[in-house]
Amino acid sequence: MRYIPVIGLEIHAELQTASKVFCGCANEFGGAPNDRVCPRCSGLPGTLPVLNKNAVILAARAGIAVDGTVNNYSSFDRKNYFYPDLPKAYQITQFEHPISSGGFIEIGGRKLRIHHLHIEEDAGKLVHDDYECISMADYNRCGVPLIEIVTEPDFRTIEEVQQFVEQMALRLKYAGVCDARMEQGSMRVDVNISIMPEGSDVFGTRAEIKNLNSIKAIGRAIEYEIKRQSEILDAGGQVVQETRRFNDNHGDTKALRSKEEAHDYRYFPEPDIPPVFLSDEEIEEIRAQVPEMPNKRVERYIGEYGLTAEEAALIVSDREFSDFYDKSAAASGCYKKTASLMLVGLNKLLNENPTPVSELKFGTRELSELALLWEENKINSNSAMEILEIMYAHGGTPAEIAGKHGMIMSADSDAAEKAVDKVLAENAKAAQDYKAGNKKLFGFLMGRAIGELGKSANPAVIKEILNKKL
Ligand SMILES: [Zn+2]
Repeated sequence: MRYIPVIGLEIHAELQTASKVFCGCANEFGGAPNDRVCPRCSGLPGTLPVLNKNAVILAARAGIAVDGTVNNYSSFDRKNYFYPDLPKAYQITQFEHPISSGGFIEIGGRKLRIHHLHIEEDAGKLVHDDYECISMADYNRCGVPLIEIVTEPDFRTIEEVQQFVEQMALRLKYAGVCDARMEQGSMRVDVNISIMPEGSDVFGTRAEIKNLNSIKAIGRAIEYEIKRQSEILDAGGQVVQETRRFNDNHGDTKALRSKEEAHDYRYFPEPDIPPVFLSDEEIEEIRAQVPEMPNKRVERYIGEYGLTAEEAALIVSDREFSDFYDKSAAASGCYKKTASLMLVGLNKLLNENPTPVSELKFGTRELSELALLWEENKINSNSAMEILEIMYAHGGTPAEIAGKHGMIMSADSDAAEKAVDKVLAENAKAAQDYKAGNKKLFGFLMGRAIGELGKSANPAVIKEILNKKL
């Protein structure tokens, strides 16, 4: 039988705060085990949590970044469970009243809905040493602020899930909420998946696959689960509701534990943290900190700037790059030329020698001047790219570089005419063949004339003269 997968996501993203969510320990990645731990985040009795204001602001920004509604009132609850990497034996999270509700990301014309987004603390990490047969606990990650983004079960294909996660990562980066480094675990995805027979609208029993940390792993895990569940149903069996772990080496999932329901956690309001009130004014202040999101930029680049969908998507894939484009293109008004300079020229240079855009030897002003020289036909396209390379290597201004290297195209039609005459005299046979119908030779003759004049050659002028003479 053919089955349709029904998929929902829970995305955990670490907030980019300086300190942890309920204590003053640094919020950083790596370092020696247990060197960023205090009585509070290691869960010693008698200590009290103090909520990090910046974590609330970043979580609210995340809500705004996904077009959710930031709530005026939110509060914290205790989720009780024992796990060796959670020394308090409960996690402080938001259950009844999350910081943000609703929202969506549109993929391929479908609105994939977000149910809500809440703040919680991360747990520590267990390091298993199979050789010594011991497990060690590293509590550095205990108390790192997280948001959990919970979607509706709206996904029907692997591609939708993967594109959604990519767009989510991009939006969180744009909003300065999370660096979304999946390989470092700062963004992790849990996938809830069930299948139903094609044509049915009754969801099946779902399995949850925890902690997927790459786009590829998400795809492989879903693919495996669809196959596993289909085989069970085809054989007349029943899928068991459970939590499973994906093994990246084997490409399969294994049962971890039977799935708990919310009531198993005995949630109750956290008595040590007062509720959070955000006034409408405070929410608007936070909204003002959130930049235009990449999906809106893509619309603007295509609709107002005339870029192709591909160009727009490439530019917005990095916020710094997109900001640089915006500033530069706005200054010159040369939207297409600026896109070419950045996507063809600059990207090639950055690939060869990766440099943050903020550390380039030229700024948006120089790039806009370069685009303008090209747009106004003062230099040709080869020179534009060459000047970009020189600016990349040594800095300088486009006009100065163009002057120094003789790249300003000559409007001098006398010189162009002389060059064309010379080329036609030297290549009389080619000229004759062209007139006899071999149209391909025009390019050859153009090339020769441009060669005569060097970098200052003005292709438009030469083309006109050549056309006249032939
Ligand atoms: Zn601490």
